[in-house]
Amino acid sequence: MAYLPAGMPTPQASQDDAAFWDGCNHKKLVIRHCNGCQRFFHPPAPACPRCASTKVDWKEVSGNGTVFTYTIGHHAVHSSLKGHKPYNVAIVLLDDADDVRLVSNVVDVEAHDMKIGMPVSIFWDEISEGVYLPRFKKNIAKEAA
Ligand SMILES: [Zn+2]
Repeated sequence: MAYLPAGMPTPQASQDDAAFWDGCNHKKLVIRHCNGCQRFFHPPAPACPRCASTKVDWKEVSGNGTVFTYTIGHHAVHSSLKGHKPYNVAIVLLDDADDVRLVSNVVDVEAHDMKIGMPVSIFWDEISEGVYLPRFKKNIAKEAA
């Protein structure tokens, strides 16, 4: 069962981010990488926001990261969320993609247990047949280390 209820809007890929969403549907987290300054960036764009190079490609990253910050949603910002329990929206700093942060959710942590700095790892949440969103689960092994 998906973290958020059916009926939530789904990603509408653009020319710039189609490869990102296609990667997700193959359970691969791919992030834009600049061959000019050798740094990752997100959201995807045809040129690097730091050095303006158009020599950019996609690199697969691990999907491990930490909760940079988060909020707990109690209000139904979309009609499909009416009656849904509080949910988190987390900003996850990826371990191996420079300062790239993804807006996502941590699916297995209750609102009162969310913590900044919590290690997390990717969880491919199938929101409809063959459509996966990059969400996260608490990385228990890393937390104990
Ligand atoms: Zn660059």
